[in-house]
Amino acid sequence: MQEIDLLIIGSGPAGISTALHLLQQDAGWSERMILLEKAAHPRPKLCAGGVTRIGLEALRDLGMNLPLPIPNVEIEEARLVYQDRVIRVRGEPEFVVYNRIELDAYLSDFARQQGINIRENESVQTISLNPGGFEVETSQNTYRAKAIVGADGSKGITRRLVDKHETPSRVARVIETVNPAKDNQPQFTQGYAIFDLTPSQESLQGYYWEFPSRVDNIPSLNRGVYDSRIAPKREKANLPGILKELTVTGQAESTTAGLQGHPLHWFSPSNRFSIPRLLLVGDAAGVDPLFGEGIGPALAYGKIAALELHNAYRKSDYSFKYYRLRLLVSNVGRYLGSRWLVAWFSYHLNWSRVFMHGLWSFGKIMFALWPKPGPLYSMNPSKVGSAGDQTGDSVK
Ligand SMILES: Cc1cc2nc3c(=O)[nH]c(=O)nc-3n(C[C@H](O)[C@H](O)[C@H](O)COP(=O)(O)OP(=O)(O)OC[C@H]3O[C@@H](n4cnc5c(N)ncnc54)[C@H](O)[C@@H]3O)c2cc1C
Repeated sequence: MQEIDLLIIGSGPAGISTALHLLQQDAGWSERMILLEKAAHPRPKLCAGGVTRIGLEALRDLGMNLPLPIPNVEIEEARLVYQDRVIRVRGEPEFVVYNRIELDAYLSDFARQQGINIRENESVQTISLNPGGFEVETSQNTYRAKAIVGADGSKGITRRLVDKHETPSRVARVIETVNPAKDNQPQFTQGYAIFDLTPSQESLQGYYWEFPSRVDNIPSLNRGVYDSRIAPKREKANLPGILKELTVTGQAESTTAGLQGHPLHWFSPSNRFSIPRLLLVGDAAGVDPLFGEGIGPALAYGKIAALELHNAYRKSDYSFKYYRLRLLVSNVGRYLGSRWLVAWFSYHLNWSRVFMHGLWSFGKIMFALWPKPGPLYSMNPSKVGSAGDQTGDSVK
């Protein structure tokens, strides 16, 4: 039995970010916490790898130099499509596409270099509450910890502990496939990504995406379909059928080869984010329900969790009773809360073409008027304010 102050379960972006933010609070945390990971980096991970500014800014504020020194594609323009209408959201960059496997391996290497103890190939199997803390049994060891951070993703053990009456209606369906592409394809030369909500006029409560990416440094097209299921009583969409039908670049035959899917637990302001001695971050707490964006929010959750944890240990009060409030009023809480609001209305009403055309007209005006943040890489970290989650102007 090993005694430890804090166990972080999961070494995805949420777990790594929480640990790094704790180190920023106090270097002594490197001796007081252990990160447990059931796999070993580089580990397989189904994800399109798009990281928006909220995540990139978190990485930079953690001391990483941007752009990260791993293969990536910078997206200068996100095209939000509905039928023949396009809202062009522009940024410098708007977001960056990484190979998720390489990104997570890079982040875990960086964390190790800062002195964080990551134990790989060690899977948490049971968690039981004892007086004074949790007893955690893994495939290798037994730990007694004063508190736990649940960073183990949408299907993790910690979310089930916090949310005993699971909320299946807060789980999105996502499928993805990756095909080789060429550097001279317009997605690469013009640096754009497509988010097509046209299939939402049928039963889809989400969109089709197409991102240029680099897998093993080979140009590739990452395509997929996100279905929020925010209106759980509505008919379920046929995701592979939509993926095949919407392949706009003429590779429909190969598109569904190697197709994989994964559930995604999304954020709602009424989610439970903690119980005494256990708090959730990243997918376990909830991703953006509008687009299924989780990497940037996961990195940003880490900062809020670290503030709550550091405070809790200083006062020896592990109730985490202010975590929910701290989260909801934070930058990431407001980011996710506004996405939840738009998703709730959009995916309940998207069967109505009048509503969708109204939304597109409103979106075009909004993005034309929204102040555009400066180029990310040239911004002085000390001058960076809130994350630029909305950016760009509208054409057409
Ligand atoms: C098809 C698809 C495409 C996506 N595309 C994007 C995108 O382009 N951009 C974006 O922002 N988001 C995207 N997402 C969402 C994104 O992948 C997640 O939100 C993100 O991975 C959240 O990070 P996390 O650290 O919370 O969880 P994870 O990255 O899932 O990390 C959890 C970690 O916990 C470990 N773990 C789990 N259980 C245990 C256990 N019992 N013991 C020890 N370790 C354990 C796992 O091995 C894993 O390493 C996509 C998701 C899917 C399914």
